[in-house]
Amino acid sequence: PKMKEINVDNFIQEELNSFEEVIHNGDINIDVINVNKVEVTHAFDPTLIHQCLHNIIKNAIEAMSDVNNSKLTIEFEKKEQLVIHITNNGPMIPEEELKHIFVPFFTTKNTGNGIGLALCKQIARVHKGNLKVESDEEKTVFSLRV
Ligand code: ADP
Ligand code: MG
Repeated sequence: PKMKEINVDNFIQEELNSFEEVIHNGDINIDVINVNKVEVTHAFDPTLIHQCLHNIIKNAIEAMSDVNNSKLTIEFEKKEQLVIHITNNGPMIPEEELKHIFVPFFTTKNTGNGIGLALCKQIARVHKGNLKVESDEEKTVFSLRV
């Protein structure tokens, strides 16, 4: 990866700006939470992390297409590494599917390709981080550590 020191607050805002229209049209409520409460910078490959966040946010928006009070929360915290939690309130991912969502080409969508999360996992790995998911009836959370 081509590591670069990045202002995380700005980076996440730019990421959300690229979804502005979909977010507006889908009437999606957005929350960005900086746990550190001061501007955070962190070294990562901006092209790769953009790709990764884009995939996760796109999935989250797609998952909320039938939800009335769509809510997307992005919470980030820097300790030694940077952890970004992307939460959406779509339907729970069944346990049987959870096992496969990081497998290349696994998709439950008619027009999906199943590449997004598999790629994300590798992007986390080349940053010596990881990507985890938790899903229950209320929400689905993807946690990216880089
Ligand atoms: P694709 O979006 O092309 O299907 P992905 O690798 O991005 O491929 O996602 C794989 C699968 O993981 C999706 O088809 C979907 O079943 C599931 N998935 C991913 N994100 C979410 C989410 N936020 N809520 C529910 N299911 C999800
Ligand atoms: Mg996807």
